[in-house]
Amino acid sequence: MVGAVSVASDVSELTELDRLKDEFIRVMAHELKTPITVLKGYATVLSQALGPGLSPEHARMLQAIDRNTERLARLFSELIDAQQISLGCFEIIAQTFDLASLVEEAVGEAAAKAPRHRVRIVWSEPIAVFADPERMRELMQILLGNAVRYSPNGGDIDVSLAQFDSVARVSVLDHGIGIPRDRQDRIFQRFYRAHTGTAHDYGGTGLGLYVARTIVERHGGTIALESDEGRGSVFTFGLPIGNARH
Ligand code: ADP
Repeated sequence: MVGAVSVASDVSELTELDRLKDEFIRVMAHELKTPITVLKGYATVLSQALGPGLSPEHARMLQAIDRNTERLARLFSELIDAQQISLGCFEIIAQTFDLASLVEEAVGEAAAKAPRHRVRIVWSEPIAVFADPERMRELMQILLGNAVRYSPNGGDIDVSLAQFDSVARVSVLDHGIGIPRDRQDRIFQRFYRAHTGTAHDYGGTGLGLYVARTIVERHGGTIALESDEGRGSVFTFGLPIGNARH
């Protein structure tokens, strides 16, 4: 009996520690987000204001600040999302909007940041959806960011958006390094990284696709991957539009 009591108190202590850890990460991620946003904003303003007047070396330095603050912002955003998911407070605030405009905007932003790739829309049509536009933006940023990052030699990144019955289907296709078949099953798991320890380990948290899957599933949709190692990948998600409000 004494043993049972002590196991129970160990478990509740561990649960409490786990909760404190989650809370700590959530607070830290929030606290660090503001300074990073400020740094990124100033780096952008400086490079726009000084643009042609900068020496190539200083231009490279500003670009490095811009790139790295962007990376930090992404890491923190993924960390905050993952914590919110595990704390059960990952919010979806839905409204009706045109998914095509949002996808086009995300593709435009990704294209501007990836001059060595051709990020483009190959098919799109206006589709009114009832969804969380911020989360949809995040989802597109994760998929497009990965498509660029895991295509180190550049190449086309083709995005398409079409409606099939009451589902909006979006796909992001790249011609990058692909994902080995035996690692595809775990790709949406929290912290899973398929290229750890290989020449294609470009760093990251393994949280992006976990957050992406959660966003899609919280909207009642599904996300899937098809990939050929060495040839490229296509991520496709389907979003029910049935409850879009006009
Ligand atoms: P991260 O990119 O931060 O490691 P993600 O959760 O976004 O985490 O992706 C998980 C893993 O899936 C990556 O580490 C990578 O191995 C693989 N991956 C994701 N997107 C692609 C892609 N477009 N092409 C090839 N591999 C990918």
